Amino acid sequence: MLLYANLLAGLSLLSLALYKVSYMTVKTRFAPSPTGFLHVGGVRTALYSWLYAKHTDGKFVLRIEDSDFERSTQKAIDAIIEGLEWLGLTWNEGPYYQTKRLDRYNQLLDELLAKNKAYKCYAPKELLDEIREEQVAAGLKPHYDATHPKVIEVNSIATEEWPFAIRFRNPKEGSVIFDDKIRGNIEISNSELDDLIIRRSDGAPTYNFCVVVDDWDMGITQVIRGDDHINNTPRQINIYKALGASIPEFAHCAMILGDDGSKLSKRHGAVNVMQYRDDGYLPHALLNYLVRLGWSHGDQEIFSIEEMINLFDLNSISKSASAFNADKLLWLNNHYIKSSDPEYVSKYLQWHLDQKNIDISNGPDIRDVIKLIGERCNTLIELADQSRYFYQENQTVDADAAKKHLRPVAKEVLDLTLSKIESLEDWSINSLHNVISDTCTELEVGMSKVGMPLRVAITGVSQSPSIDAVMYLVGKKRLVSRIRKALTFIRERQMKQ
Ligand code: GLU
Repeated sequence: MLLYANLLAGLSLLSLALYKVSYMTVKTRFAPSPTGFLHVGGVRTALYSWLYAKHTDGKFVLRIEDSDFERSTQKAIDAIIEGLEWLGLTWNEGPYYQTKRLDRYNQLLDELLAKNKAYKCYAPKELLDEIREEQVAAGLKPHYDATHPKVIEVNSIATEEWPFAIRFRNPKEGSVIFDDKIRGNIEISNSELDDLIIRRSDGAPTYNFCVVVDDWDMGITQVIRGDDHINNTPRQINIYKALGASIPEFAHCAMILGDDGSKLSKRHGAVNVMQYRDDGYLPHALLNYLVRLGWSHGDQEIFSIEEMINLFDLNSISKSASAFNADKLLWLNNHYIKSSDPEYVSKYLQWHLDQKNIDISNGPDIRDVIKLIGERCNTLIELADQSRYFYQENQTVDADAAKKHLRPVAKEVLDLTLSKIESLEDWSINSLHNVISDTCTELEVGMSKVGMPLRVAITGVSQSPSIDAVMYLVGKKRLVSRIRKALTFIRERQMKQ
């Protein structure tokens, strides 16, 4: 009997634990309005929400807040999805679209009307504007005043045929208190909040209403967003309460500023995130840059994606605004170009190679090229440009470099290296190194007298990684033809003199 009772107690503890686990499942979301491009501010919010979901083994939802029909565009939706995919911020659910949920909003609007928690407001815009002007003239904060005699009058004479907006009946007493996970405790008196419109007279439900219905229906547990929404939160909490919905936790992230302290604008990098792809950034560099822009873990600067996921928490997000620093982003990009798996780099480099019509199928493995020249490049554009000589002939030779290094004195050097290369059987960096040092010894000249003409002949420029390693990857056939070409160039030059 006792055993049975113990077993039962054990089972109920277990089910309580399981209930807790399932209850605690985190679900975050990124809910952009598709009225413009996805820019770094939005990406950072998406990243924090994504990281928090990953960190807690939760789910991440993508919701397109397209309830503002006039300002939403398909182009912006596509740009958001393309940007998130490029960054690897993949979602577990969605994309949901508010425009597909209008029935649900209307159903709940009707419920609020029936429960007298919302009401129809017939006051025309002109009247409301007039009242606002009065308020401003009287030194008051402009707000909707349901007790204004003119508003009362209009609403009393209105008939069902009149156009109307639906307003939320905000509580008049008390205050809204919430514990923002970044900002701490926030309290707003209800007297500060007027009865906001939750459906416009054209029938469109408004942001503050849809966002609550969506976050509730989608089971969102943490709303992580920019602090430009912090004033909306108390209003939304009142709507949650009126609907009898569970209220999520809120975390409002401080703004991103430009490096000059002003609001982040195009000039500072608040451009379409795809511009960063076009400018040669690796997604990992941008993510690492953005995770640190307002969040920290000691003084660590470099985070693998795994580390970001493991270490991320809401408590370490900064309360104050952070300044965007383009140099740091570039530094991180160089770090990831040189230290990432070349396979990863090559995946993103390919787009740039395509843009520049560089066909890598007829040359060395691009991963070896990345290993060799990656550290010299801050962007994938530079990497693509500098990889050109491994794959393309007929490249233009830098005029200054040619003038300085492809001179008659270089003829002997190039002739000798050419014959040594032609007869080389073992194709390795080491044997190519020996070709150069043997040439130096035989001609009794210094390393640079051999290395520089060779470099210019082979790469077309006067700067490159170690020339033996470059020669190894360029390959015998190309080396031979380029050195011959350089010799012809020198001869023609001599003839002209
Ligand atoms: N759709 C809103 C925006 O793009 C975000 C709403 C939210 O995160 O609550 O600003």
